[in-house]
Amino acid sequence: MSDPTLPPSGRGYLAIPGPSVMPEAVLNAMHRPAPNIYAGELPEMMPGITADLKRVARTDGHVAIYISNGHGVWEAALANVIAPGDQVLVPATGHFAHGWAGMARGLGAEAQVIDFGKSAPMDPERVAEVLRNDTAGRIKAVLAVHVDTSSSVLNDIAALRQAIDSTGHPALLMADCIASLGCDVFEMDAWGVDVMVTGCQKGLMVPPGMGFVFFNDKAAQVRAAMPRVSTYWDWTPRANATDFWQYWNGTAPTHHLYGLRAALDLIHAEGMEAVWARHHLLARAIWAACDAWGAGGPLRLNIADPVHRSRAVTSLHLDPPQATQLRDWTESNLGLTLGIGLGMADSKDPDWHGHFRLGHMGHVNGHMIMGLLGGMEAGMKALKIPQGDGALSAAAGVIAGI
Ligand SMILES: *Cc1c(COP(=O)(O)O)cnc(C)c1O
Repeated sequence: MSDPTLPPSGRGYLAIPGPSVMPEAVLNAMHRPAPNIYAGELPEMMPGITADLKRVARTDGHVAIYISNGHGVWEAALANVIAPGDQVLVPATGHFAHGWAGMARGLGAEAQVIDFGKSAPMDPERVAEVLRNDTAGRIKAVLAVHVDTSSSVLNDIAALRQAIDSTGHPALLMADCIASLGCDVFEMDAWGVDVMVTGCQKGLMVPPGMGFVFFNDKAAQVRAAMPRVSTYWDWTPRANATDFWQYWNGTAPTHHLYGLRAALDLIHAEGMEAVWARHHLLARAIWAACDAWGAGGPLRLNIADPVHRSRAVTSLHLDPPQATQLRDWTESNLGLTLGIGLGMADSKDPDWHGHFRLGHMGHVNGHMIMGLLGGMEAGMKALKIPQGDGALSAAAGVIAGI
């Protein structure tokens, strides 16, 4: 079946920050008849899948799997440790932090947001300050988004843990790694993260539909002290399943599991360090091109300091409506789909058409990134958007390692 919005030949590239490009190995693994869910291969795959998921998250803790998207595991994680009337503290560096805070409120929690804007990382010291002032110990958890996919800011979760520890406050540290896991360096145990949530459709390269909640023993104790948790959201039986159905509290996401198995094989064959290094190299190529374009035109990276930029997603700005024009041009002329700006401006604000994003998470390599950048350059030329010289050469230099 052909998509009328794409040119008729060649492969398209969906360069949006999730869902990400799916490897052939994942697609092929999913192409099969309905498997038996009561015995045989599928139930037997589970111990290996959970062990390999924990290797991606760098944890010896527990993992509960849900048939859900990222929003679903936001709720799953909160439902296990946050009761109505509890307080959570949310350092916000973009759209998604506000979304998680809103969900906590929907579950009856009081969510206190510290807003760091849309172009800067959080300051762990300000989080510590609020915790120090919470002498009654009412704040039960800090909800921190590792990479906010709207702003593309990368937050320093290890520094946040140290800041929390410096106060002696017992609040749980809960991290949203939905955009970052399998792309940006993340060490759940070494960094002292108590709860981490992610989805399968970004760095894990599987179609949307599965979400994961990782938790440690400290979080399990908080769960044990909850007045009640719905049997569906409860992570305890899912993380300690002995029967296959208990992992899901019902029917398993059969084909997703085959896809996930293939994706985990790809990730661990490459190695976590190599996966992270590849994402860093490709991100640096993108940043080099953007710096060169921006030296002679309106393009600018949303996050000025490379230390605070994600390796999975890049948020950019042009003079409105150039961002929308560029996205339209590359999609209809090249089959290259760039991401919309999300949460950076209201959709009725003209500036909405100045924001856009690049997804470079998961199944990406050098030629795809050079194609992405070449396509953007062609689009800017076609639209007569001023641009500095040497962007593609700078990106190629990064990829070439010179
Ligand atoms: C994508 C994303 C979400 C939301 O995930 P959905 O699967 O769209 O529900 C939440 N947080 C972050 C950081 C994300 O990148």
